[in-house]
Amino acid sequence: MLIDTHAHLNFEAYNEDRGEVIERCLDYPMTVINIGAQYDTSKKAVELSENGNFYNTIGLHPIHVFDEEFNIQKYQKLITNKTVAIGETGLDYFHLKEKEKSLSEIIEKQKQIFIKHIELAKDNDLPLICHGRNSGNDFTLQTVYFDLLKILEQNNYSRGVMHCFGGKIAEAQSVIDAGMYIGFTGIITFPNAQGLRDVVAEMPLDRILIETDAPYLAPQKYRGERNEPIYVIQVAEKIAEIKNMKVEEVIEQVWKNAKKLFKIK
Ligand SMILES: [Zn+2]
Repeated sequence: MLIDTHAHLNFEAYNEDRGEVIERCLDYPMTVINIGAQYDTSKKAVELSENGNFYNTIGLHPIHVFDEEFNIQKYQKLITNKTVAIGETGLDYFHLKEKEKSLSEIIEKQKQIFIKHIELAKDNDLPLICHGRNSGNDFTLQTVYFDLLKILEQNNYSRGVMHCFGGKIAEAQSVIDAGMYIGFTGIITFPNAQGLRDVVAEMPLDRILIETDAPYLAPQKYRGERNEPIYVIQVAEKIAEIKNMKVEEVIEQVWKNAKKLFKIK
């Protein structure tokens, strides 16, 4: 079964035609995990799980840690039998938008909230959807994957996926060594992403997940447009091309991986 392990059909980008987008997923048919990024979008992701093969995750994205309080009890109450992970959560050194706050203050807050997500994941025996992004220009903020792995290790919990991976081979290898999965998006179809395709080539298929991160990151064929879950096939095709395999084999192995990590039946 084709699966998009990371989509945001819960976001307002789909307010006009969400029903049609959902219909295209159900018709295919494919499985979709909608990812919460704030309380409201987590709630919406839970609601969307009423559709057939739809699942949800709940969490507060690191870029939103100053927009609302992370109330662990409130989030706990959202969890249903179709909640398959906690997140997205993690560290984001790219969107440091709180100009009135110091860098260390922002990062410390992201770290605290990430640790609370780890607690919530432990309490519910669920994996984590980890988000990591390095700074675009500050050379001192280029270690996000190692920083995330360090926090996970300190908290004795490394079950989950490093979603939308954008790092180097050494970082990807550390993610694998920690026992985690690596999520690849349509970025691997971009002409300038050879470095990331080299990472795909090196990583074992039984630890790879495919995702769209829709509405963002539409694959090359649809670049600039709004992304949607069925385009995840482009990610599977690119992985198949890189690994010299049949696309069906990639789709089946990723489905096995997702079932194992997210305990989907
Ligand atoms: Zn996302």
